[in-house]
Amino acid sequence: MQGRIIKGIAGFYYVYADGGLYECKAKGIFRNRKMKPLVGDVVEIEVLDEDKKLGNLTEILPRRNELIRPAVANVDQALVIFAAKNPKPNYNLLDRFLLMMEKQQVPAVVCFNKTDLARERELSVLTDVYKDCGYRVIFTSVSEETGLSEIREAVEHKTTVLAGPSGVGKSSMMNLLYPQAAMETGEVSEKIKRGKHTTRHSELIHVEGDTFVMDTPGFSSLFVDMFEEDEIKYYFKEFEPYEGKCRFQGCSHTHEPGCGVKEALEQGKISQIRYDNYVLIYHELKEKRKW
Ligand code: GDP
Ligand code: ZN
Repeated sequence: MQGRIIKGIAGFYYVYADGGLYECKAKGIFRNRKMKPLVGDVVEIEVLDEDKKLGNLTEILPRRNELIRPAVANVDQALVIFAAKNPKPNYNLLDRFLLMMEKQQVPAVVCFNKTDLARERELSVLTDVYKDCGYRVIFTSVSEETGLSEIREAVEHKTTVLAGPSGVGKSSMMNLLYPQAAMETGEVSEKIKRGKHTTRHSELIHVEGDTFVMDTPGFSSLFVDMFEEDEIKYYFKEFEPYEGKCRFQGCSHTHEPGCGVKEALEQGKISQIRYDNYVLIYHELKEKRKW
């Protein structure tokens, strides 16, 4: 039978297959191979006990992709949710997350929730900053139930990594969009009692049909060890048109004279918020490397 690993805990893999959840062990064949099963993997299982829903993993099907952070396979996109207000968006965190997704070649969609609390002008700032650098931006209000169909349409038939700081409305949104999934998730955790005392793991939630959402443990400190300082400029996509204008090859766009990116910044073609985050992360990485 074919299924999808939705969770892995202490040597057990929980495989969603044919509408049921099977507790599986990875048998010997995986021990000799480099390939370790990952959440998100499409797998073949051999059912040992249909009543107790026990089985063995027998094969991992080829992966479309494999992320390191979060550790998950076969992801189509990331949906990063922030609040337009309360808490106000942490641009630095958002940019770091986008950077991480760019590096792993995962397209990202940006959602700002709680639009009911923000003024028109505050929302247009958010649009300017993130739409202009090429991201799809979706505004929602869970309270007023606006923008939700756009979220539904964006995640449908896909596997989406859901991320965002706590308090922005992620769970309210998912519960409203997919009440059935919330129940299923409850049943899953009921079944996986052994997981309760362990730290929170990443988990794939089957929301409906072929739609899956990967709930990631909150991200707050971000992942700078994935990067060299010299490469991050390439992941700020909006710099690209101006990089050719820099006087120096390998310009870091921080202190060099005759910098095309800084010129574009002065002309308002690049967002100050994004640029400042770039410089901050650049210096942080440089310091880290020295240590
Ligand atoms: P999570 O930590 O991201 O899962 O956030 P929650 O779903 O727990 O929501 C945090 C708080 O924000 C709760 O009190 C929600 O009722 C509230 N909230 C969620 N969405 C909205 C919204 O669109 N507008 C307003 N005003 N409050 C919201
Ligand atoms: Zn430059």
